[in-house]
Amino acid sequence: MARVPTDGINRDLGPLRDRLATIGDLRSAASVLAWDRQTYMPEGGVRGRAEQLASLARVAHGMLVSPETNRLLKDAGEREPGSDDAAFLRLARRQHDRAVMLPERLVADVSRATALAEQAWISARESSEWSLFAPHLERVLALKREEAGYLDGDHPYDAMLDRYDPGASTKRLRIMFDELKAGIVPLVRDVSARLDEDRAAPLRGSFDERAQEEFGREVISRFGYDWSRGRQDRAVHPFCINFGDPDDVRITTRFDPMRLSVGLFATCHEAGHALYEQGVDPSYSRTPLSGGVSMGVHESQSRLWENLVARSRPFWSFFHDGLGAAFPDVLGDVDLETIYRAVNAVRPSEIRTEADELTYDLHVLLRFELELALFEDDLAVADLPEAWNAKMAEYLGIIPDNDALGVLQDTHWAIGYFGYFPSYTVGNVLSVQLFEAAVNGRPETMLQMERGEFDALLDWLRENVHRHGKKYEPDDLISNATGHPPKTAPYLKYLQRKFGELYGL
Ligand code: ZN
Repeated sequence: MARVPTDGINRDLGPLRDRLATIGDLRSAASVLAWDRQTYMPEGGVRGRAEQLASLARVAHGMLVSPETNRLLKDAGEREPGSDDAAFLRLARRQHDRAVMLPERLVADVSRATALAEQAWISARESSEWSLFAPHLERVLALKREEAGYLDGDHPYDAMLDRYDPGASTKRLRIMFDELKAGIVPLVRDVSARLDEDRAAPLRGSFDERAQEEFGREVISRFGYDWSRGRQDRAVHPFCINFGDPDDVRITTRFDPMRLSVGLFATCHEAGHALYEQGVDPSYSRTPLSGGVSMGVHESQSRLWENLVARSRPFWSFFHDGLGAAFPDVLGDVDLETIYRAVNAVRPSEIRTEADELTYDLHVLLRFELELALFEDDLAVADLPEAWNAKMAEYLGIIPDNDALGVLQDTHWAIGYFGYFPSYTVGNVLSVQLFEAAVNGRPETMLQMERGEFDALLDWLRENVHRHGKKYEPDDLISNATGHPPKTAPYLKYLQRKFGELYGL
């Protein structure tokens, strides 16, 4: 595809652009504080930090909904379709319109209720006591449903989805999940019938944390993560964060001294997010066009590097020597095929974040169905644990020993993130569609991977996905990049081929 030069944001939009840049700066400052909270802040800082974050959010929200912003948006008129200016205005208006639809009282209620619910969730999970969390979840859910009532959508759940994936709809997700369910559930059943020895065993043992960190850094440096515009720190829940421009994009990770895959794949995953952010056109900095376009597309990037790259045979044919050298006592003698089978070992398990590539989407499917039932009044909060376990039994053939390993495992509901889970699966689906288009566009990709080189792949992603930031709607971005709107067939075919081969189906 020919490179279309970005034209930047027109000068006559200056005052509006400045105002939105200031609002963006406030949010970026909040992100720095959030990053600090999750990495270096002492525990004692919690309450002060909550106030600082709330103040910044309040000031930013106030500026966004103010008559002055409204006037600047109205006066801006219309711009040439397809231009950066048109995208800038579309995104700015969307932000503004969504913000004014929600009463300030509700915004404050959600913020307070989720802060309390998160606290309650932490204790509830520690003691595996659902009853400690249930009343908080009732409250959060009631507020989110009220929020949905103020926002647009054919279905109340659409308003939840829209926040993470503009344009996503309940109707479309139902179709996607139905297709995936029909393909993955029988595949998992077939593989489960063939679970032989514990293939993941080589990845358990004693792994020096320093060596783990160094190995991960080597991998993502080769991916193209730019350390002069980023850094890596430790955090309990790994994440990637940016501050409104591509020149400071940070990742965090955590290491398990007994299990190699935890730190390694978290590092690759977060680096995938970071490569996206580092690749956005710098002229979009401090504008609504900066950053990844949706959570679904964002997850497509993290999952692409984590799974299509770091769980592939070409990748390990290059890295397996280095891995043996990094952990000579545990992995010094392990051959390539054993490593490849180990990083792709399937084992239905309770915890989503530790799930293998094949069963992962069933964890998401379960959450999607439960969320939908909650929003459609088909399920009461009180009945969630039972509904959870029933679906685990149906899709994965296991029932969690307790609620901490079941319905209480994720933080999303506590913090009000209904509608977020589907992004993980949308990301998986898109990751394969994009990867195949990249390999088509740059056939040297696979051979390069065997040499530990990734520039053809990164270059294609930069060109077709990263640099565009939020300029296009997610569907248009995918269609432009791959020639098709999002579809599940390539993903299902990929899973069938890969795991069919691995398990001799
Ligand atoms: Zn992610």
